[in-house]
Amino acid sequence: MISMAKVAHSGAARAAQPHGGGDRSVCGIRAADREILPAIAGKLVERFPALDLFERVAAIRGQIPGRLVFTTSFGLEDQAIAHAIFAQALAIDVATLDTGRLFPETYDVWAETERRYGVRVVAFAPDHRAVETLIARQGIDGFRSSVEARLDCCAVRKVAPLARALDGSAAWITGLRADQSADRAQVLPALFDEERRLLKVNPLFDWTRERTREFVRAHDVPCNALHERGFLSIGCAPCTRAVMPGEPERAGRWWWEQSQKKECGLHVTPDAHVMSANTPQQ
Ligand code: SF4
Repeated sequence: MISMAKVAHSGAARAAQPHGGGDRSVCGIRAADREILPAIAGKLVERFPALDLFERVAAIRGQIPGRLVFTTSFGLEDQAIAHAIFAQALAIDVATLDTGRLFPETYDVWAETERRYGVRVVAFAPDHRAVETLIARQGIDGFRSSVEARLDCCAVRKVAPLARALDGSAAWITGLRADQSADRAQVLPALFDEERRLLKVNPLFDWTRERTREFVRAHDVPCNALHERGFLSIGCAPCTRAVMPGEPERAGRWWWEQSQKKECGLHVTPDAHVMSANTPQQ
């Protein structure tokens, strides 16, 4: 368990700074520092296997200069990482993409997380004009009509807000695990994202769902109530259902689509592949 005094102190410090971190967090990364990011990725790849989750997120903060952003959707993996960040009061900005279509249970665990750790999670909402144009074009649930329409919705509600969340950052920390789906099987601990010009770091790359669940239980981390109702991967409410026993973890995302690719554009390269060991490195 973490000390409440430590958490309260952390929360006060974060509340005073819009981006939730210390000086390094609010400063943009210098061009010279950005040049060394691919080399830092290599070091993290070497070090991660020997480190626990607390040590991994501390190593990310310690090794990478500039602003770091962790994006959370308040799922099991993200809650584990958030705990490791908040418990150590690390200068890492914790942000979420509030698409406007989230489950009430997701807002509940968001609020519970802020109470538990005495912090603010920074919300990035879609541009209201873009949402209004999208709805006028395809209807309120138009994303069901085709994969293209769904990707349009994700682009407005997720991808564009993510770009704002990551603006000026040196690294993006995510909760990707390699065993979540076939598409994610090659996920690396860290790699340089050529498109966004930042490091993408996945501290749970080699964890199983069971290991993640054990960590969350052991540290009494707030969890989305939907997990107990069969929702393994939780996104927007109209695009997520519970999975049946034996179904893949991400089978409940956009289940009406025939494609096996269950991604929303956040974790894919321009040629529509999940960033992985096969993604070209600088
Ligand atoms: Fe739109 Fe569904 Fe994508 Fe959410 S998950 S942004 S509602 S298409």
